[in-house]
Amino acid sequence: MNISFDLDSTLIPNGNEFETEKDNWKTKIFKVEKLRKGTKEVVTILQNDGHRINIYTTSFRSKRRIRFTFWCYNIKINRIVNQTENKKKLESLKIYSSKFPKAFDFDLHIDDSKGVEIESEKYNFNVLIVEPNDQKWNEKIINKIKTNG
Ligand SMILES: [Mg+2]
Repeated sequence: MNISFDLDSTLIPNGNEFETEKDNWKTKIFKVEKLRKGTKEVVTILQNDGHRINIYTTSFRSKRRIRFTFWCYNIKINRIVNQTENKKKLESLKIYSSKFPKAFDFDLHIDDSKGVEIESEKYNFNVLIVEPNDQKWNEKIINKIKTNG
């Protein structure tokens, strides 16, 4: 499956809303943004099961910067869609939604936003909401994906 993750408040904390991955020499030297504790584990499990892991964000961070951040944590990302690309694509499709994962062939999108959940009902795409305060967030993701095949 092609799985996409949101960044802000899903994998990257806004303040101290969740615990973060331990630093290593690369994250220390380059001072990249922190990633949520368990990110490396959940991505590795899903990739080992043959899924492709993508980032889908409405932030304007550059793709290079996002890829570099994940590289510092030794995480390989398949495709990155940022707001520059998202806006262009959704405008061309005349889709008035903040996100529309189907436009990028993402089968399941993981996000913290209730707004995206509402859009998923309106535009008929698959979303899994994980709360920033959910300690078992990565178990929730893995259970959902394993039960859906
Ligand atoms: Mg978010």
